[in-house]
Amino acid sequence: MKNALIFGLTGQDGTYLADFLLKKGYNVFGTFRRTSHRCFERLEEMEIFHKVTDIKADLSDYGSVQAAIKQSEPDEIYNLGAQSFVGASFQQPVLTSDITGLGVLRVLEAIRENVPDAKFYQASSSEMYGNYPGIKNEESPFRPRSPYGAAKVFGHHMTNHYKEAYNIFACCGILFNHESPLRGLEFVTRKITYALSKIKFNTLDKLHLGNINAKRDWGFAGDYVEAMWLMLQQKEPDNYVIATGKSHSIKEFLDIASEYAGLGDWHEFVEIDESLMRPTDIEDLVGDASKARKNLNWEPKTSFKELVKKMMDHDIEYHKQHPSSQY
Ligand code: NDP
Repeated sequence: MKNALIFGLTGQDGTYLADFLLKKGYNVFGTFRRTSHRCFERLEEMEIFHKVTDIKADLSDYGSVQAAIKQSEPDEIYNLGAQSFVGASFQQPVLTSDITGLGVLRVLEAIRENVPDAKFYQASSSEMYGNYPGIKNEESPFRPRSPYGAAKVFGHHMTNHYKEAYNIFACCGILFNHESPLRGLEFVTRKITYALSKIKFNTLDKLHLGNINAKRDWGFAGDYVEAMWLMLQQKEPDNYVIATGKSHSIKEFLDIASEYAGLGDWHEFVEIDESLMRPTDIEDLVGDASKARKNLNWEPKTSFKELVKKMMDHDIEYHKQHPSSQY
């Protein structure tokens, strides 16, 4: 039985990956941060909390990162931990750089010192490309447009460096946006499906959004975690773009979600709020995952429409069962 350690177990991807690895027969360890409230809702919703070993660790604290690695004796380490919201990175650029950027280096150092034979996956991001035009592949240049994107570029280069300098089996998955019913509520897709469900049950009147012309390449998180695992099963470590190859605007997301929820024309209840516009934004992000298709035999299974419906179904059901939810 192999041991896997997931930094960022409590997040969207951490939960899907833990579920995936448990089904593969792994002993799954994962880190969580000490907070004033419980943070295991996603794992509980997936009914896997009792199957994983949770370890308290923070990516800003080298000692706890090292202790997590020593305790779990991992064969595979997945670093999914991050301040992962681009919008918040403009308000908290130093914290974002510390967790999302330097945090990667702390994990790499702990691997080098303690478990140099462990395989390492780093969650790189399409946000590293910024507005570089056209469809992006592993060779496209990085031009980040946010503190988050810049921090991810640092983590990406450090991962490449540790692979080359210390022979660590380290891979970066350059994942394009991936969503699910477990997506954080501040991310635009989930913000939409959650709000539309409330509007459907008359507990909300308006949905405030920023730039709804932005286009993203959206896939389903459950499909994407398989690619993370596949990267670590190859003979040689390498970096891979994981994407669907198609982008859609937020307006298109609204079209499908609103029609599916039976709410008709979303212009009736969506208001554009200038304060939600970012200082710099990315217009369009599309990825070319042909290398992953060829080498990993990976491809996305869930279409954009299916993804939107999956998220709507989840949130409508939630609000049906919790009609007085204030949140
Ligand atoms: P989430 O925000 O859902 O999860 C992030 C995880 O990181 C959470 O478990 C969070 O813990 C943890 N975390 C935050 N701060 C710290 C810290 N200081 N120390 C340790 N852990 C911390 O993100 P996703 O699951 O969606 O994404 C997973 C990874 O993939 C992230 O690195 C993200 O940047 C990257 N990525 C995501 C994409 C996407 O579209 N989802 C696209 C490309 C890359 P807590 O629950 O306590 O907040």
